Amino acid sequence: MSELGRLIARRIALTGPISIADFMAEALGHPRLGYYRTALPLGASGDFTTAPEISQMFGELLRLVELGPGRGTLMADVLRATRAVAGFQDAIDLHLVEINEQMRALQRAALAQATPTWHARLEDVPAGPTLLIANEFFDALPVRQFEKTPRGWVERMVGLAADGETLRLALAPGLTPYAGLLPDAPAGAQAEFSEAGRALAATIGARLRRDGGWALIVDYGHDRGGLGASLQAVRGHRGAGILERPGETDLSAHVDFAALAEATAMPTFGPVGQGDFLRRLGIMQRAETLKKRADAAERRAIDAALARLIAPDQMGTLFRVMAVGDDRSAAPVGFSDTPSDTT
Ligand code: SAH
Repeated sequence: MSELGRLIARRIALTGPISIADFMAEALGHPRLGYYRTALPLGASGDFTTAPEISQMFGELLRLVELGPGRGTLMADVLRATRAVAGFQDAIDLHLVEINEQMRALQRAALAQATPTWHARLEDVPAGPTLLIANEFFDALPVRQFEKTPRGWVERMVGLAADGETLRLALAPGLTPYAGLLPDAPAGAQAEFSEAGRALAATIGARLRRDGGWALIVDYGHDRGGLGASLQAVRGHRGAGILERPGETDLSAHVDFAALAEATAMPTFGPVGQGDFLRRLGIMQRAETLKKRADAAERRAIDAALARLIAPDQMGTLFRVMAVGDDRSAAPVGFSDTPSDTT
């Protein structure tokens, strides 16, 4: 059992079983031991300093926001690709929402020229017109799980085995008040529900409605939530039990895009498959251009990467792309076969 596992077991011993969503929030976000935190307190305080003068220019600037930027690779590519857009780089003010100190250090190194500001929550990013991107972020937000019994929907909880310390899944004794939000299903069916995902989508929608802008959400998941339990655990690139070694194990669940779209209360486009999205954006032509200046080994690597990104049996279909916007006049590029800027 991990240290965090023992803490969670103690909490359950004191207060009773907790929901899977609460378990996930602890396992990933516990301030000291969570998987998405670092145990190294190195430089922790420095990251919360905000850029002092930027606040005076809120209204003039475009917030470029990324949720969970990882190593900062996507944003570095965005900045490189937009260098040629007149005025864009001068207008943007880069904000990164990230709770992992080691990731923040990598982002700082990758994005140094753009002088980003880091935040723990989207709510802390200053108001203003916003372009937001989130790649594989929503899949890490806590989900509740439910099982349909002959009596009705019951929540699956994290409790303790008879030894009083081993974590174990068990059904709550009574019917769940979430039943009204779950689909009709036969006994034995399972369902998931992410309050955190819906709340974040609502925050994004409210921000875009108030200040204008666009959000692009990319993740693996379903266009319609439907039934099933998708929560999975990965440790050292291998599947693991979801209750095993919390804090040392990654947990993620399929994203319910219909639920997110509804929560934004804004016009949305897609979701479309990542393969279709990237093809409409011109990834084939881009690959050809890159291959022209590549040697044979590099060309093979480019083809392999291309297949990985767009092939239906790889990331092309399971990964979905959804845009949230403040204007319904035309679908943004990538969401329809006719690019909106050429018709
Ligand atoms: N977008 C990157 C990384 C995805 S992994 C990529 O596609 O490569 C998820 C990222 O979100 C990591 O950087 C992780 O540290 C961060 N993260 C996870 N949960 C978070 C939370 N609740 N708040 C802020 N950042 C979080």
